[in-house]
Amino acid sequence: MKHNSLESIPALLCGHAEGGYRDGYRWRCRICSSFWDLDSNVIQNYHYDDSYPQARRHLNVDIGELKISSLRRWLKHLNRDHAIRLGVPSERIFDGNNLPERLSESIDLWIFQDSFEHLPKHADFVNWMLRSSAPAAGVLVVAPQAGSFSERMLGRVWPHKLPDHLFHWSKQGLVSFFETRGFKLSAEFNPLKTISLQVVLAHIAHKTGLYNLQGPIERWLPTISFPFNFGEQGMLFKLGALPPQ
Ligand SMILES: [Zn+2]
Repeated sequence: MKHNSLESIPALLCGHAEGGYRDGYRWRCRICSSFWDLDSNVIQNYHYDDSYPQARRHLNVDIGELKISSLRRWLKHLNRDHAIRLGVPSERIFDGNNLPERLSESIDLWIFQDSFEHLPKHADFVNWMLRSSAPAAGVLVVAPQAGSFSERMLGRVWPHKLPDHLFHWSKQGLVSFFETRGFKLSAEFNPLKTISLQVVLAHIAHKTGLYNLQGPIERWLPTISFPFNFGEQGMLFKLGALPPQ
């Protein structure tokens, strides 16, 4: 479903009831600048399926004509196998679509490194986290920042505008979302990442679909890397009093 009609846009996930306004491809919150990406074909159904052609842009070209639904299943196993190879015990890996009511141990620190913006149902997931959080649990979030200088300057070519980032959170949006669930902002940091020219090229290929140029160009790039922050925010929240369930 393409959102040509503004009436069909779901409520802003930041929870600000004042609503939004159209700002180019974005449906932006008047209060906190978080936004929906109106270019996305799906807003309420985040899952990749065959009706989601942009998902193909995420695929390695070598995968060819594999159906997206098969690919999802395959990626899930691949991710799981990779985590197990890295040494994560398999009983500690969970399927997000089939979570237990609560975990057997309480969690001191939840880490969302480039992942909060991928969650299908933020509010449900954080409510689930609350059931298994230690009394002063922390939540660490590194995510693209709506309203950042690069986001406002670059518009559609902002590197974080991706088909599976349907909602972008501003700092104020994240703070108010977590505050209503009992988490207070405890620290902020500038999340620098080490990037190389190869990473920059891979992002350009990913955005443009020009994967067949990636290999030939990559051979000519020098191997240098540097610390960089391109419109990302880092925050640590701490659980205070548990909100009523
Ligand atoms: Zn907002």
